[in-house]
Formats: sequence, structure tokens, C-alpha cells
Amino acid sequence: MEFLDEKLSRYAEMHTFPESGLLARINRETFSEVLMPRMLSGHLQGRILSTFSRMIKPKRILEIGTYTGYSTICLAEGLLQDGKIITIDINQELEVRVRKYFKESGFDDKIDFRIGNALEIIEELDEKFDIVFIDADKENYTNYYHLVFEKVNHEGFIVADNVLWSGKVLDENTADPETAAIIEFNDQILKDKRVHPVLMPVRDGLMVIQKLNK
Ligand code: SAH
Ligand code: CA
Repeated sequence: MEFLDEKLSRYAEMHTFPESGLLARINRETFSEVLMPRMLSGHLQGRILSTFSRMIKPKRILEIGTYTGYSTICLAEGLLQDGKIITIDINQELEVRVRKYFKESGFDDKIDFRIGNALEIIEELDEKFDIVFIDADKENYTNYYHLVFEKVNHEGFIVADNVLWSGKVLDENTADPETAAIIEFNDQILKDKRVHPVLMPVRDGLMVIQKLNK
């Protein structure tokens, strides 16, 4: 499901900073060589993630769901000199490809790529983050949120992708567990008094949640 008229989408992309040669290649190669390429963030969302990172100037980022590394590289663009992004993915089949992309990106020394189940790896992390990007299995969004919450700095951000789930969130009586999980996640954020959320209807929906300074 496309939310914006196709011509307007193209217009928005054309008036947005272009993809680097590497990001364009990751985009192309993911579509021709990797399963489920639609999971890749893509040009416009990639530039939005990069812009968030440039605005926040983070020291530490945590990304849950690396896939082919497209969003990792976009987020890394705003890191401070001594900044670092930890990115986690359970799919070891993409490891060689992704490490090669990271090496070419020039951000290799800032990217800490961990293979494994994010639910386990997050528990072991003893750091505070300025941005957490939640973009892995939808059924665990609420678990990820609770797991990372204490590890997010005050005034830091949690960004969750695909929160409109192709429009399926409107089906309150859904039997689909992923849709139900996203609906539950979105509703729960709204009730959480510790945060300032905004659901941006970009691509498949980006929930940008700031942790308030209590
Ligand atoms: N952030 C990427 C897309 C991520 S796609 C981009 O924007 O380009 C979602 C990824 O989450 C997949 O690569 C999948 O392997 C990973 N994933 C699913 N369940 C996971 C888990 N429990 N722990 C870590 N990664 C997981
Ligand atoms: Ca996504």
C-alpha cells in the first residue's frame, strides 16, 4: 500500500539529498540478490533517518534489525566523532555482505555489528543510547521498547518503523499476530506518560518517541 500519490513520492525523493553511490548499490543489490527486499528503508526514509541523526548528533545509537545495513549507514552519518552504533540482526546469512558494505561505508570503525537474537543481546548491553531504532520482528516491538527504555538517555529518542503496517493497523479485529502486536505497541505508547510520541506517516509509518526529562 502506497500512502502518497506515486508522483508526489517521486517529487519528494527528487527534492531530497540523493543516495550515495554505496547506498544506491546496497538498495539495488538487496532487490536483486536478497530475500524480502521491501524491508530495506530506501532513499527517502534513509535520508530521514540520517537527518534525525544529524539533528540529534548522538554519541550512541542502538539499531534492532540490521538487514543489509542500509539504515545503519544512514544513522551512522550523524554520529559524533567518538560516536558508535551497535546494530543487531539474527540472520547470519547476510553477515559477509553486510560487513563488506560497512567496510566500504567509511563508518566501519563506528559500527559494532552483532549477530544474534536482539532480545538476548540487548540485556547484555551496559550503555546508554541517544537513539534506538526498533525495526526487527514486529511481535517483539513492545518487548524491545521495555527492554531498551532504561538504556535510553533522558530526552533521547526511540524510533520504531512500520507502525502503520501497510494500513493494517486500522483492522482492530485482526487475526494476524504481527498486526495485533503493532496495534498493541502503538496504543501502549500513547498511554505512556514518560514519553512524547509522534506517528509520522512516512513510508510505512515511523513512530518517533522522545523520552521526557522527568
Ligand atoms: N533496518 C533495516 C531493515 C530491517 S528488516 C533497514 O531499514 O534497511 C528486519 C530485520 O530484523 C531482518 O533482517 C531480520 O533478520 C531481523 N530480526 C528479526 N527478528 C530478530 C531478532 N529477534 N533479533 C535480531 N534481529 C531480528
Ligand atoms: Ca522497516
